[in-house]
Amino acid sequence: MAETDFIVVGAGSAGCVLAARLSEDRSSDVVLLEAGGRDNALIVSMPLAWMQVASTPKFGWGDVSEPDPNLDNRTQPLPRGKMLGGCSSINGTMYIRGAAADYDAWRDAGLGGWGYDDVLPYFKKAETNWRGAGPEHGGSGPLDVTPMKTHPELFPAFLETAGALGYPATDDFNVAQPEGFSIPDCTISHGRRHSTARAYLEPAMMRPNLRVETGAQVRRILFEGKRAVGVEYEQDGQIKVLRARREVLVSGGAFNSPQLLMLSGIGPAQHLKDMGIEVLHDLPGVGQNLQDHPIGLTFWAAAKPNTFESQLRLDRLAANLVRWMLTGKGTPAQSPLTIQGFLRSDETQERPDIQFQVSHVSYAAQPWFPGWRKGAGHQISSGAILLNPASRGYVQLRSGDPKDLASIQMNFLGEESDRVTMREMIRFQRRFFATAPASSCVAGEMAPGPDAASDEAIDAWLRATAMSAAHPACTCAMGTGKDAVLDGQLRVRGIEGLRVVDVSAMPNIIRGNTNAPAIMIGEKAADMILDKSPA
Ligand SMILES: Cc1cc2nc3c(=O)[nH]c(=O)nc-3n(C[C@H](O)[C@H](O)[C@H](O)COP(=O)(O)OP(=O)(O)OC[C@H]3O[C@@H](n4cnc5c(N)ncnc54)[C@H](O)[C@@H]3O)c2cc1C
Repeated sequence: MAETDFIVVGAGSAGCVLAARLSEDRSSDVVLLEAGGRDNALIVSMPLAWMQVASTPKFGWGDVSEPDPNLDNRTQPLPRGKMLGGCSSINGTMYIRGAAADYDAWRDAGLGGWGYDDVLPYFKKAETNWRGAGPEHGGSGPLDVTPMKTHPELFPAFLETAGALGYPATDDFNVAQPEGFSIPDCTISHGRRHSTARAYLEPAMMRPNLRVETGAQVRRILFEGKRAVGVEYEQDGQIKVLRARREVLVSGGAFNSPQLLMLSGIGPAQHLKDMGIEVLHDLPGVGQNLQDHPIGLTFWAAAKPNTFESQLRLDRLAANLVRWMLTGKGTPAQSPLTIQGFLRSDETQERPDIQFQVSHVSYAAQPWFPGWRKGAGHQISSGAILLNPASRGYVQLRSGDPKDLASIQMNFLGEESDRVTMREMIRFQRRFFATAPASSCVAGEMAPGPDAASDEAIDAWLRATAMSAAHPACTCAMGTGKDAVLDGQLRVRGIEGLRVVDVSAMPNIIRGNTNAPAIMIGEKAADMILDKSPA
């Protein structure tokens, strides 16, 4: 029977890091099993195309939420990358770590070793930051972190507007207390997406002790008693078994990691029985505590023809694509984001609870050319992301068949406090665009439209349009209470030889995007497993 030391399930943001770091120890063999394929399609490497890649069925799992009772029973697509790199191969490339207080709260909840001072060395170890090495940044890690380019007209105007509203400018969001307005850093290297597959896995793939299998979907974890001893997976229509001499490490992401635990008999006992699955270990927290960041959007007509719409004229787009392919430069080399801000929705907040973003591109943007197809027009899109949602969703099995996708209830805006903050943030966006000089950059509010002024009208807009920022997390949460799935070493409680290493391990979602934290978790897990400290 095939055997290895470590099995890593899932080559996503965390899984690639974990497999690459574990295989640095040449005395251990590592097998990385990825359900999706390789990441070599050109479009995957193009930062500008991330929304298109994220909505292309062959690159993803195709998850769709259950009808959400708080959003008029609307379902929403929940893109998840299914290829080497996982979501780091389809994401918006924004590099944000969250605030020190996010991690200190994990530590203070009983998770020793997860405070900011403990995790900062791993953020630094991971990156080669364009600023060079320093107290907050690494200068020689695998992941290239580079600055996003600013829009020469709109960025200064929006920065000045933020100042007029009392918000400071910042030159780095990846510090202990991120706050204020600027433009974010990105995981882009020489104009190409720097996924964890590119940054970590590719350089490690030649190692004789690392085997990477694609098209290999793990169906269940195998146990002897309560010790994980291997996995059963499907590849090329065949069911295969692989044994792990040391550990099985699940890095399937926020939906698939809890799904795999439940398919393997670990989870809420009654739910497993309902699905016809033999219960190995009753762990009620598996799949619960789902947290994500909802976005509330507004759309504006631009006052001048100075948005990304001009770049979408087919001849310009084609010329830029050729330039990017040859030099890595030009508009395809980054996302058109105009400005970002971390701000407090009101003065009682101890730290920013909103991530505000403005983009000089319409959500309906598409290539255009006179006489061929009309464009969306010059528009500005704006969004406020709720960073500390009180609402909790859950992941359950749809059936005991590993081929079925999980059932996902986001339960967005289920709590009144979330609705109040999101409502105020729609009003904040209006204040922003009513303040000079941003007021001179827009010609009017397109949606929800000035008529949507009452609480009821704004709530209706949010129910109809609020969407996920694609940061689901916390579904196999570390902790100390009865609902905790993992201990502080990422080990599944009550089971030996099994850890979950991805964003589902977060006890509470951090106040920022989740790729950098996933990478940090992968880095830290490798050291925990190999009993090392950060070098
Ligand atoms: C469209 C989109 C945009 C985003 N934009 C940003 C951004 O700009 N900045 C940011 O910081 N974050 C962003 N995120 C979020 C961030 O990318 C994710 O939170 C992060 O990548 C999650 O990492 P992970 O390791 O937990 O899981 P994933 O990266 O999802 O990895 C899971 C991997 O496991 C594989 N897998 C799952 N089940 C199995 C199985 N049974 N057998 C084998 N393999 C399996 C999957 O195919 C996948 O490759 C975005 C996400 C999306 C979807």
